[in-house]
This record gives sequence, structure tokens and C-alpha cells, in this order.
Amino acid sequence: MATTLSINPYTDEELQSYKNHTKKEVSEIIDKADKRFYNWRETSFSERKKLMLAAASELKKNKQEYAKTMTLEMGKPITQAIAEVEKCAWVCEYYAENAEKHLENERVKTDAHKSYVSYEPLGVVLAIMPWNYPFWQVFRFAAPALMAGNIGILKHASNVFGSALNIEKVFKRAGFPENCFTTLLVGSDAVEEIIENEKVKAVTLTGSGPAGSSVASIAGKNIKKSVLELGGNNALVIMKDCEMDKTIETCVQARFQNTGQSCIAGKRLIIDASISEEFVEKMLVKVRELKSGDPMDEETYVGTMARADLAKDLEKQVNDSIKAGAKLEIGGKRQGAYFEPTILTNVNEGMSVFKEETFGPVLSVTTFKTVEEAVALSNNSKFGLGVSIFTKNIEEAEKLAFQFDEGAVFINELVKSDPRLPFGGIKQSGYGRELSDDGIKEFVNRKTVYIN
Ligand code: NDP
Repeated sequence: MATTLSINPYTDEELQSYKNHTKKEVSEIIDKADKRFYNWRETSFSERKKLMLAAASELKKNKQEYAKTMTLEMGKPITQAIAEVEKCAWVCEYYAENAEKHLENERVKTDAHKSYVSYEPLGVVLAIMPWNYPFWQVFRFAAPALMAGNIGILKHASNVFGSALNIEKVFKRAGFPENCFTTLLVGSDAVEEIIENEKVKAVTLTGSGPAGSSVASIAGKNIKKSVLELGGNNALVIMKDCEMDKTIETCVQARFQNTGQSCIAGKRLIIDASISEEFVEKMLVKVRELKSGDPMDEETYVGTMARADLAKDLEKQVNDSIKAGAKLEIGGKRQGAYFEPTILTNVNEGMSVFKEETFGPVLSVTTFKTVEEAVALSNNSKFGLGVSIFTKNIEEAEKLAFQFDEGAVFINELVKSDPRLPFGGIKQSGYGRELSDDGIKEFVNRKTVYIN
């Protein structure tokens, strides 16, 4: 019988051992989910709204409990874990209030007496999710999916099965009917068979490129819809007229919150050479102030990374870049799963920390002399999730937005997700959109109705 161990990355202690679902159990769960779909899709928006608002209340009421499990499982500082649970309540409330409006029939004037598009749920949707935001990544899928009348089954990352079960618990406690949302305790080797199951209609994955590529191939072979939210290598583009102190504060948060483990983190600081020295000096002061330590301590801002192997990968990227000529300004050391907040300057486009995604607290700094060069540096990435531009000249920055090959351009702000705005990338960052009107329409049948 396969089991999955949950390890606290801060203490290295075993938290829990989970018995994986067998193939038979998985198949039974999918059968039940599919069965539930046929009456769930008949429920009214107001019934779903009531339940989704109850989920939001449950999240707020028991945020400490849910946050604690996340922190113990993957090392996220507790205050950031609590904020994550609160954000999940927000996305539940957003879709409770807006799903009906997003999905109402759209009249289209044609030769017909009446013609329109109706948005209907697909059925059981599989969500394969990562450990970096164990609640948020799941809720931003689950809230729109359930409100649209779909059913969710979750294959969460193997190091956060406690949170996966907690998410199932949130929906149960909120009063959702059985099997509207179920957690499968399985490894990634079980995914192919799940996608192939004819009762599973679509799949969404947030995670690495290789995982996305594999899942998309299987979905494609089975002619099933997929949405992919993969990595990012966002640039923070700093113009010489930026408001320096405020920009530094935002950049520190963009890179070091969640211990740097975010697809939309600002990973490459691309800065006008004329202000680079002063900016980095001031930034170092701020980074020194970041408190590392026990993730359960409310004062901690930088926790441990989620797994020691991920910290080792990061260490290699940093060391390779130093060998290639990057200058270590601060940090650079690893202890188990903990990695010091790190800044590297003199970084060029050939170095690992520039070319590859660094999924931890490491910021690379590269300078430019012209705006054209800044755009080219930012676009020199296989990813295309988002970019932040910092300048007082909003008009110029807005004109420039068009030139960035990204899913999002934020001016004087870090790239962040917001239930009201579409979220997703281009290039190797994936395809499809989550959140907003776009997100809820990913897993629906856009049915044309024509009445003569
Ligand atoms: P993975 O992509 O391996 O894991 C994410 C999810 O995908 C997990 O549920 C995992 O399950 C599952 N998975 C992994 N491989 C497959 C597969 N072949 N088929 C189906 N499902 C699969 O991320 P890692 O944890 O290995 O992290 C590695 C890197 O991925 C990070 O350093 C970062 O660059 C990127 N990443 C990006 C995230 C984002 O937000 N876009 C989030 C997390 C990681 P299981 O845990 O059982 O393997």
C-alpha cells in the first residue's frame, strides 16, 4: 500500500503519513463526482452562492487552523499563510457575487428570431496543484469551477496532503453536497489514468514546465481541454526616474514574500545603470532587515523553502552564476531547506539566475543604458507571465506596455493576482486564464442557441 509522508521542512520532522488512494478508490471517487455533477448543475446560482459564501465564512472563521497546516507542511511564514486563507475567502466571495453575471446568456443579433450563447458546465474537472500557495492555487480554481456548476477533484502536491484534505473540509463544513469537491491522495504517476477516465472532462495544472507538458500531452491525446499556469521569470524594470524608496520596498516584497517561491515573483531586477549602485545599496539595507526564522513565529518574514531538494537546486543556480562572474552582495548560503535572502549583481543574460526561473529568495540584478535595452532584457526569457515597470512617467510606461511579451504588465506595482482580473501567461508560462470573467469561462461549454 503506497503512502505519502508529510515532512516539516523547518524541523525535518515527519508530520503525518497518508495512505494513498488505490486505483479502485480513485475510480470510485470519480464515479461519485460524475454522479453528483448531474444534480449539481441543476442547482441555481443563488443556491451555489449561499454555499460559496459559507465557504468564505468558514475560511475566515478557521483561518488559523488552515494556515498552521500550510506553514508546518511547506515552511511558509504563518502571517503570510493567514493572509493566503483570507485571500481565498475573497475569491469565494467574488465568484459568489459575480458568477451569475459572468455566465448569463449573451444575446447575439443574427438572422434568427433569437440567438444567444449560453455557458454550461462541463462536468468533473481535475486540478493538479502545487505546494507554494497550497490554498490559494486551489481556491482560485475551485471557486469559479463550482459556481459554474462543475465538480472539482484535486490532485495536490505530495508534500501538502494535509492542506489538500483541509480544502475538502472547507467545502464540507460550508455545506456543499458530498462529492462536489474531493481530494485524491495520489502521486503524479496516477494522473494519466485519471485524465483518461471518460468521466473527467478537463484538467488544469499549476506547476513546473515538465509537469505541464506531460499533462497537456495526455489531455491532448484524449481531446480534453487543459489550462496551464506554469513558471515565470518576471522582470522588475527600474527606470532612472522611479520613486526610489517606494520602489525598493515593493521590489523587496515582490521577490522575498513567500520565501521567493512564487511564479509571479519579480526575479530579475533590470535597472538603469545610472542609479543601480545607489538602489542596490539601499535595497541591501532593507534585505538585511528581513527576519528569517521559525515559520510559526509571527515575526518571521522569510521561512524555509518547501523542500531541501528545491533549496539545493537554487544553490546550484547561485553558485554557477557566481562562477560565471556574478557578484554576491548578500546571502548565498543554504542550510537544509533554508536559503538566505540573496542578491547577485553583475548578472548577464548568459547566467543561470537570469536564464532560468529561481524559485526561492534570490534576486539577480542586470543594468541597462537605454529603454530599448531594458525591454529586450525583460523579453529575453522563455517565460511570459508578467513584468513590473517603475517610473514616474506613467504615460511612457503605458505606451511601453505593448512591447512586453507577457500576460500582465504592472506599473509601479508588483505583479499580483486579483479575482477581478485575468491571470495567466504566454510562452512557456502556459495558456488559458484564471480568475475574473475569463477564468470562469475556461471550463464551460459555450453553447450556441439559434431559434428561427
Ligand atoms: P511540479 O510541477 O513537479 O509539481 C506541481 C504539481 O504537479 C504537483 O501536484 C505534482 O505532484 C504534479 N506533477 C509533477 N509532475 C507531474 C507529471 N509528470 N504529471 C502530472 N502531475 C505532475 O513542481 P515541483 O514541486 O517539482 O517544483 C519544481 C519547480 O516547479 C519549482 O522550482 C518551480 O520552478 C516550478 N513551480 C512552479 C509553480 C507555479 O506556481 N507556477 C508552483 C510550484 C513549482 P507531486 O507533488 O506528486 O509530484
